[in-house]
Amino acid sequence: MVLADLGARLHGALNQLSRASVVDDRVIDALLKELCAALLEADVNVKLVSQLRTKVKAKVKKSLDEAEKAGGREANKKNVVQKAVFDELVALVDPGTEPYKPVKGKTNVLMAVGIQGAGKTTTCTKLAVHYARRGMKTGLVCADTFRAGAFDQLKQNATKAKIPFYGSYTETDPVAIASLGVEKFRKERFDVIIVDTSGRHKQESELFEEMVAISLAVSPDMTIMVLDASIGQAAEGQSRAFKDSADFGAIIVTKLDGHAKGGGAISAVAATKTPIIFLGTGEHLHDLEKFNPQPFVSKLLG
Ligand code: GDP
Repeated sequence: MVLADLGARLHGALNQLSRASVVDDRVIDALLKELCAALLEADVNVKLVSQLRTKVKAKVKKSLDEAEKAGGREANKKNVVQKAVFDELVALVDPGTEPYKPVKGKTNVLMAVGIQGAGKTTTCTKLAVHYARRGMKTGLVCADTFRAGAFDQLKQNATKAKIPFYGSYTETDPVAIASLGVEKFRKERFDVIIVDTSGRHKQESELFEEMVAISLAVSPDMTIMVLDASIGQAAEGQSRAFKDSADFGAIIVTKLDGHAKGGGAISAVAATKTPIIFLGTGEHLHDLEKFNPQPFVSKLLG
């Protein structure tokens, strides 16, 4: 079930509620059952789903008790239930922390981390294009010395996007490249410097050590975890492992245009209490969507 299917199912469940002539416990339970089944099928963590059910129920009960005292009608009940569901879905994707926002006129260093193949290099270029289009002088640094061809890939992407880049074919120390690249762009008064780092096939201590060393060398204003939505439930464990060693302040979820169910990435937000800032929705340079919890849930519900 892809994210669009989840939306359609949630929408359908809420429609059932709109059509019900009476909103009683049976109707609310049926709605919650369908909602939870849809979320579970989309790979959202079981504990989160169960918490959502409890919270919606408690909120609805509280509001209905209050409405009853004030002589409430059925239409109000529907609104109450709909609002509780909406708010709790928003809470699922909103950890309540504000991500760092690059500002023009100062040097903002961003560092991307993640597993190999997650979409780091692609996403770094997309991000660079995003900031450059907003009038910020943006540069890319390739500190991925692990994957053969990583620098060529970044160079190709950057050239296509007309973004200045820094890297080396001979230097094998990613920390040295990251430091030199950031220093160069800093001296040239770049507003945004994006450092692309190595991945590995899975989360490994070597990778984490490297990330910590690069981070210490370039002191990023924001470290971004690039998370592939198509890995499903594994997204939660992976993001936890990264958070424990290479603390990141934002998440970008990639490959949401494919067959990804998206629920794993949603669970990663709760597990790491870290906000999603963008969604990757394709292989092209402009396939990057800004993420905000409320509009995302509104769009999901259709
Ligand atoms: P890295 O190893 O983490 O640097 O990953 P890459 O940037 O090389 O991306 C791995 C593959 O995923 C490439 O084929 C990208 O074109 C593809 N990719 C990255 N982001 C997206 C996305 O949002 N949607 C789709 N469909 N493909 C993506």
